[in-house]
Amino acid sequence: MLRALFLRLSESRRLRALAERSSLGRRVSRRFVAGETVDQALAATRAVNQRGMSVSIDNLGENVTNSDDARQSAALYHHMLDRMAAENLDANVSLKLTHMGLDVDAALASELARGLVEHAVRANSFVRVDMEGSPYTQRTLDFVRALHREPGHSGRVGAVLQSYLYRSEEDARALAAEGIRIRLCKGAYQEPAAIAFQKKSEVDAGFVRIMKILLQSGVYHGIATHDEKMIAATLDFARTQNIPASAFEFQMLYGIRRDLQQKLTGDGWRVRVYIPFGAEWYPYFMRRLAERPANVFFLVKNLFR
Ligand SMILES: Cc1cc2nc3c(=O)[nH]c(=O)nc-3n(C[C@H](O)[C@H](O)[C@H](O)COP(=O)(O)OP(=O)(O)OC[C@H]3O[C@@H](n4cnc5c(N)ncnc54)[C@H](O)[C@@H]3O)c2cc1C
Repeated sequence: MLRALFLRLSESRRLRALAERSSLGRRVSRRFVAGETVDQALAATRAVNQRGMSVSIDNLGENVTNSDDARQSAALYHHMLDRMAAENLDANVSLKLTHMGLDVDAALASELARGLVEHAVRANSFVRVDMEGSPYTQRTLDFVRALHREPGHSGRVGAVLQSYLYRSEEDARALAAEGIRIRLCKGAYQEPAAIAFQKKSEVDAGFVRIMKILLQSGVYHGIATHDEKMIAATLDFARTQNIPASAFEFQMLYGIRRDLQQKLTGDGWRVRVYIPFGAEWYPYFMRRLAERPANVFFLVKNLFR
């Protein structure tokens, strides 16, 4: 129930405007967000790199409502790709297509995303296209496929699949067969029973089935979870199938299970930390509270310390 409540609140434009303008809100958001500026995101990236892990940087923002905002978001990503290369950071970028204007003008979103993948090719980097709610699933996968097919783009752009969607197992087989890199996660949005598993046990079982498809595909994928059971299943499968640590990576979110991130790295597995930053932190932050409502109590406790 709490998960559904937080997910509904995450879509409130009024609360979003209030929270993002308040200094208390900004302070609290730091639990999961690296800061508001590129400099802060790059400083967090450097610190994570020094701990032996790579990074994917996400400039927070979604569902922009005009083309100027979309162009501005793309320009910021170009700036980040330049800075990451200049500072020799072990990092790539994650972006949302609705941040590139998908709701406003699909042709513009396509032009902006293509420009960023071309930049990633020149900078020897990579663009991960995050997966949003189910109204965007097919369009997002179509976008990634089209970008991936362009000359020189193979291995430079990847998709995300959510194990709560019934369709994801089929999508995993098809995308992996096309050589497209996938980030597998459980899924962070509220989806109906008509298209998505509702029970955690079913979402987890789907995650394990898809993880096995991905690890056997010979393509470099990301297994994105903080769930120790999912991680144990992945390690077990990799070991029994003789899949080397260099063939895939674990991915976790900034500020969540740092201990586990460090343990996996210490054991010789690859770990990438997803570092979000920016002033538009509210929907991302609320989805993190939805995943673990107990976070609210920790936040409140810390505020009064
Ligand atoms: C790198 C990365 C990228 C992602 N990209 C996307 C995306 O593009 N689209 C999308 O829909 N979702 C995305 N997600 C979110 C994902 O779908 C899940 O909502 C989220 O990862 C929680 O699921 P879990 O696998 O950690 O398992 P859960 O079963 O939710 O949690 C397992 C355990 O992990 C810890 N944990 C999980 N979440 C939190 C939290 N917020 N705070 C503190 N502890 C926590 C707790 O110990 C919990 O018991 C991404 C996740 C990661 C790690």
